[in-house]
Amino acid sequence: MSQKFDVVVIGAGPGGYVAAIKAAQLGLSTACIEKYTDKEGKLALGGTCLNVGCIPSKALLDSSWKYHEAKDAFAIHGISTGEVKMDVPAMVGRKANIVKGLTSGVATLFKANGVTSLQGHGKLLAGKKVELTKPDGSVEIIEAENVILASGSRPIDIPPAPVDNNVIVDSTGALEFQSVPKRLGVIGAGVIGLELGSVWSRLGAQVTVLEALDTFLMAADAAVSKEAYKTLTKQGLDIKLGARVTGSKVNGEEVVVTYTDANGEQTITFDKLIVAVGRRPVTTELLAADSGVTIDERGFVFVDDHCATSVPGVYAIGDVVRGMMLAHKASEEGIMVVERIKGHKTEMNYDLIPSVIYTHPEIAWVGKTEQALKAEGVEVNVGTFPFAASGRAMAANDTGGFVKVIADAKTDRVLGVHVIGPSAAELVQQGAIGMEFGTSAEDLGMMVFSHPTLSEALHEAALAVNGGAIHIANRKKR
Ligand code: FAD
Ligand code: AMP
Repeated sequence: MSQKFDVVVIGAGPGGYVAAIKAAQLGLSTACIEKYTDKEGKLALGGTCLNVGCIPSKALLDSSWKYHEAKDAFAIHGISTGEVKMDVPAMVGRKANIVKGLTSGVATLFKANGVTSLQGHGKLLAGKKVELTKPDGSVEIIEAENVILASGSRPIDIPPAPVDNNVIVDSTGALEFQSVPKRLGVIGAGVIGLELGSVWSRLGAQVTVLEALDTFLMAADAAVSKEAYKTLTKQGLDIKLGARVTGSKVNGEEVVVTYTDANGEQTITFDKLIVAVGRRPVTTELLAADSGVTIDERGFVFVDDHCATSVPGVYAIGDVVRGMMLAHKASEEGIMVVERIKGHKTEMNYDLIPSVIYTHPEIAWVGKTEQALKAEGVEVNVGTFPFAASGRAMAANDTGGFVKVIADAKTDRVLGVHVIGPSAAELVQQGAIGMEFGTSAEDLGMMVFSHPTLSEALHEAALAVNGGAIHIANRKKR
């Protein structure tokens, strides 16, 4: 007799595992199918995020930043360290331990919540049946009242730079270097390219980022991307805009990359090359021909605003569907879907998904940019506060960047919060909470913020929207 569940989730990334836990919490019998195994061949839950994405990249970003501080920034505090050395295998090993702790934590959460964890490859058949191909090759058919497809994404490969997992790597390979490459190339100045480029640059690599577009960080507010370009370049990242990679040739342990820019064809040689040109949805062997689920023209599983596919009872969430490829977007979609399966009317606010780039300074935003609002014809008031004027930032010797709050000129409602600077991700989250409740800039300005905190920069930027900042000269007069 085949197993039958209220909910079967395919994929245990932050979309799938969160959906599975929530479903079990809501009293639904739930199974989650995952095929990914770690280097020891053991099932590893948590998807891209925990295994080769958010968490390992942040572990390396934190380690490399500490190295940089110990080497170059402690002296200003009066701390002398002697020679500072970096043990790269130890750093990478620490990252692996964090990953292990978190992925096994998901397995524990599955047990604690009563989620049935099934190892193998899941494929949706017609009639909400799921074919599970186990590691030993045996096949089981599982029946489900509801199926949630959460198969995630994988790195895009480009023909001019095929990944060989030695000299040319993708983001996963770039988390595993055992020594610091002398000359490191990165194709793509997106979030992943900038984060991984920063890691190895801080450790001493000479990093060149080749970006096909002429505009840097197009999705960010223009003031933020300008500041980011200036600061990252100053840190030593050579970011070449308008540089489209057209070919590469591996010669032993180096690679000669060809790219075109405004001056024609150029070549440059690297010891390692990271291809970070984006990610694409994983739908390989996910859907039987008669499953009824449709794929859109870009290869994503087609869903409506509530993540329902074209088949009743089948949903899809996270990187495999439209929208931003972010762990928190995947998780919230999982929760929305499961609550709707339970009959709740849960909605997700797609307008308030924060974006973060974990460079230093950190870059984060929520809501719309000033440029987008102006293009829509919305009149806005803008308040900006530089960290250079923050006592807390000065105490921490981390004064780069600013907070920018954008409010509707007619209603004062906050429409965007953009931060480049220390703890940008945390500050933007405060903006997001306010925006979810329809805060005005005046509301934020009237709140009491602890002193001295970096959060005061958000307070002051909100006050500056209406010309009321205390600790800087206001551009706008009351
Ligand atoms: P995934 O995490 O990709 O999980 C899908 C899972 O499904 C995988 O484990 C896969 O093995 C499994 N699977 C696929 N098909 C099948 C099948 N047929 N049967 C069984 N199992 C299957 N996002 C952030 O929000 N913040 C960050 O800081 C951040 N940093 C990142 C850094 C890097 C280097 C990378 C690569 C990504 C980063 N992301 C970040 C993006 C984030 O990892 C993804 O948005 C997120 O993991 C998507 O979650 P998901 O559940 O949709 O898919
Ligand atoms: P993201 O999608 O945010 O991860 O960013 C990937 C970046 O890679 C985008 O900004 C693309 O413009 C860039 N990109 C894609 N293909 C190439 C290429 N052949 N050469 C240089 N940059 C590229």
